[in-house]
Amino acid sequence: MTLTVLINAGPWLPVPPAGYGGIENVVATLVPELRRLGVRVVLASVDSSTLPCDERISVFADGQFAALQRPYNQVSGIAQAHLAGVVRELRGRDDIDLVHDHVEAVGLATLAALGPDAPPVLHTLHWDLAKHPELYGGLDGGRRVRVNGVSAAQLARAPQALRDHSVGHVHLATPLAVDPHRRPPVAQGGYALVLGRINPGKGQDVAVRLARRVGFPLVLAGPVGPYHRPADLAAAGAPARQNPDVRFFHDEVAPHLDGDRVRWIGTVAGRDRDDLLAAARATLFPLRWEEPGGTAVVESLALGTPVVATARGCLPELVEHGRTGLLTDDEQELGDLVLAADLLEPDECRREAAARFTPAVMARRYLALYDRVRRLGSAAPALRAA
Ligand code: UDP
Repeated sequence: MTLTVLINAGPWLPVPPAGYGGIENVVATLVPELRRLGVRVVLASVDSSTLPCDERISVFADGQFAALQRPYNQVSGIAQAHLAGVVRELRGRDDIDLVHDHVEAVGLATLAALGPDAPPVLHTLHWDLAKHPELYGGLDGGRRVRVNGVSAAQLARAPQALRDHSVGHVHLATPLAVDPHRRPPVAQGGYALVLGRINPGKGQDVAVRLARRVGFPLVLAGPVGPYHRPADLAAAGAPARQNPDVRFFHDEVAPHLDGDRVRWIGTVAGRDRDDLLAAARATLFPLRWEEPGGTAVVESLALGTPVVATARGCLPELVEHGRTGLLTDDEQELGDLVLAADLLEPDECRREAAARFTPAVMARRYLALYDRVRRLGSAAPALRAA
C-alpha cells in the first residue's frame, strides 16, 4: 500500500527557496527522493512553491519571511494560520498516514494537541534545543508525536521530555553529494570561506581577527540580518542597528574588513555559491554555539573543500579530524589549521559526502523513522499508558 505523508514546510519561504532557506532546502532535497521510493507527498507550503509533489496545500500565496522582522503581536498569527490550514486538511481526509513537520514550536504544539484520531507525527528539530525550554521541557505527545534531531550532539543536550519523544537523528544531506566527482574542477582561490548567517554563534568576528593575524585571505558570505547585499545594508543606515546581527556585524566584524584580503560579499546563491565553496582552500566554522545540523559543512565536503572548525555541536560527527578537516577546542589555533588544511585530500572529502550525505541516504533513514513512528503510534492502549 502506498504511504502518504503530509510534509509541513511552513509558511515562511517557498520550496525550494530562491536563496537562503535551510529548512526549505532540506524539504526540497528530501521530497524528490521520497517520491522516488514510492511515497505520496502532500506538501504544506505556500502557493509560490515550485517543488514537484503529489498535492500541495497552502494558506498563503507567497513566503511570509519578511514579516519575521515585525513585532511578535503582528507575526504570531502567520504560523498559526498556516497550521490551522494543515489541521483543516487533516480533519477533512483520512488518507494521510503520517505528518512530517518542520515548523518550529507552533508545528509541534499544534499537532501534539490533536486528538488520538489524528495521524502520527514526526517533528524534525532543526534548531538549537536550548530554545523553548517550557514547550520542550513539558512536551506530551502521547505515543502519536515523535521528534528527531539533525545530529546526535543536538539531541544529547535536549531536555529530558524531548529526548523521551525522540526516535533518533538524521544527518542533513545535499544534492551536491551525488556523484561529487562529476563537477568540473574550479581554479583554487587560496582563501578561507565562512559561509552562513553573520551571527555571533557562527563566529565571523573570530574569523576576521585570525585572518588578519595569521595572514590568510578570507571571504565571508551570508546575510547580515535581513540584508543580503553590502549596498542594501549601507542604504539601511542607523535604523538597521535595531537588528542584533547588524550590530554584531558593525561592531565586531566590519572594523577588521579591508575590502580586499578580508571581505564580506553578502549572500551568494546557486552556482556562484557552489563555485565559491569549491574554490576555497578550507571552510572555516569558528563556532560559539552548538551547531545543530551544519548544512554548510556537508556542502563543503561534497565540493571537496576541507572543514576547519571548533569541535562543537555536530562538527565531530560530520568531520573526521585529520582526514576531511581539522577540529580544535582552542579558537586561537584555528588560523594555523587553515594553513594546515592545504595538506588534506579533497577526494577524501567528496568520498565521505557521497557515502554519508546524499539525499538517498537521508530519505532511506526518514522512511525507517516513519515506519517506527507509525508502529509506536499504534501501540496498544495498555502500552500507551506504560
Ligand atoms: N547559504 C547560502 N548562501 C549564503 C550563506 C548561506 O546559500 O550566502 C546556505 C548554505 O549553503 C546552507 C544554508 O544557507 O545551505 C545555511 O544552513 P546551515 O545549516 O549551515 O546554517 P543555519 O543558518 O541553518 O544555522
